[in-house]
Amino acid sequence: MSPDTTQLSEPPAGSSSIAPSSSGAVSPTHPNGRKTDKLTPRGEDHSPFWQNAHLYFDRVYQTMGLDEKWRAYLSAPKRVLTVSCPVRMDDGRIQVFTGFRAQHNNARGPFKGGIRYDASVDRDEVMALAMLQTWKNAMVDLPYGGAKGGVVCEPKKLSLGEKERLTRRYTSEIMPIIGPVQDIPAPDLGTDGQVMAWLLDTYSMMVGHQELGVVTGKPVSVGGSVGREEATGRGVMNVLRKFLKTKNKTLQDVKVAIQGFGNVGSHTARLLAERGATVIAISDKFGGWFDETGLDVEAAITFYRETGQLTDWNTDADRITNDEVLTSECDVLIPAAMENTVDAQHAPHIKAPVIVEAANGPTTPMADDILRANGVTILPDILANAGGVTVSYFEWVQGLQNFFWDKKRVEDELQKIMEKSFDEVNAKADASDVDYRTAAYTIAVGRVAEAVRLKGLFP
Ligand code: NAD
Repeated sequence: MSPDTTQLSEPPAGSSSIAPSSSGAVSPTHPNGRKTDKLTPRGEDHSPFWQNAHLYFDRVYQTMGLDEKWRAYLSAPKRVLTVSCPVRMDDGRIQVFTGFRAQHNNARGPFKGGIRYDASVDRDEVMALAMLQTWKNAMVDLPYGGAKGGVVCEPKKLSLGEKERLTRRYTSEIMPIIGPVQDIPAPDLGTDGQVMAWLLDTYSMMVGHQELGVVTGKPVSVGGSVGREEATGRGVMNVLRKFLKTKNKTLQDVKVAIQGFGNVGSHTARLLAERGATVIAISDKFGGWFDETGLDVEAAITFYRETGQLTDWNTDADRITNDEVLTSECDVLIPAAMENTVDAQHAPHIKAPVIVEAANGPTTPMADDILRANGVTILPDILANAGGVTVSYFEWVQGLQNFFWDKKRVEDELQKIMEKSFDEVNAKADASDVDYRTAAYTIAVGRVAEAVRLKGLFP
């Protein structure tokens, strides 16, 4: 089961070590402390998540027969910027937050990728997510390279004013490397349309004119696209529906469990429930709810939007833990929270025959091995959650042209891209007799490798 040259082992007990302060800032020197399968480093000092992302790439690169001399270039980020963001807090103190922007590869077009506000953000995390974004953008054939940014903070502990001042300062710090034809940020974990509106305004004030193309995921009233907010969830729904069709099933035939109830998890739950799927389990960071006859998803969304949590939701459903969500009796499991939430400890107990990765990097390579051995089908992140960046691409195009589409056009174009991408992955998996992740990576890495080879090396 151990892959290639890398040995896998379980994490030491109690290895989690994030120590957030009450002010919302977190020391960036703390390692990424989430529970995860640990990879014994190959001489590098990188986080398990960084190593997982590279392992998935290395495994596929080896089997693709690509020229070995391009491997290091394809896996290394082009640029990683670390910034300090001093922010005046509401109580008068000046708090310094650490932020990053990693740009992985731009052979196929400008860099593009989200900005994350979370206590777990670190340099390795943004580098790994930027690499994943390169493959994702190539997987759905968008004319973009991959990037990712983040600020080490606890967004829920910041006041609105503190969050705005942090966003404006972070934007000004990464200003030299972003722009509508350079690098286009978007929302991710802990950020939303409001944060993107502040980013737009800060950038526009600094260049002296409104620059809609600098950021996507903006509210519609300031040049965003209709359908962007729900786009990642809609893409998840499109891909799952297309997959089920290959099994002569529909969404009405499946019971679904969803981990994470933020932007991606809640819209996925709603769009699936609206089409007849039975959503039996949902959760947020603090735990979840289970009802085998189906939860009232609309009521859960209303409550979550008002309070930011599910814990105090007034429902007849049974309270369950996050681990129980993962191992619940369902037909489809959708991790939509964070990376590394499905690890080798969960994998043997997962009962769902199908996993749709709505989060980025939720399944560790070791869990992936176990699940594949157990016959579980995984629709991988770089395919399944690409709906968000796809509608971000539509938003960017609309902003550059100042010509805005209606919702039907956005939904139709999204469905076309998601279904075509699924068909490509499905055909590759069939033709090469490989799992969907290997098929998706083979297509995506192949596209980036071809662009890199054709462009050659500068100078
Ligand atoms: P979000 O901040 O809106 O929501 C995250 C949700 O996950 C919250 O409900 C939170 O309570 C929950 N959560 C956090 N840690 C958890 C844990 N350890 N266990 C269970 N639940 C946990 O974030 P989002 O935008 O919905 O992003 C979720 C995932 O999807 C991330 O991996 C992100 O990178 C990925 N993603 C997001 C988008 C997008 O358009 N927002 C696009 C592609 C991929």
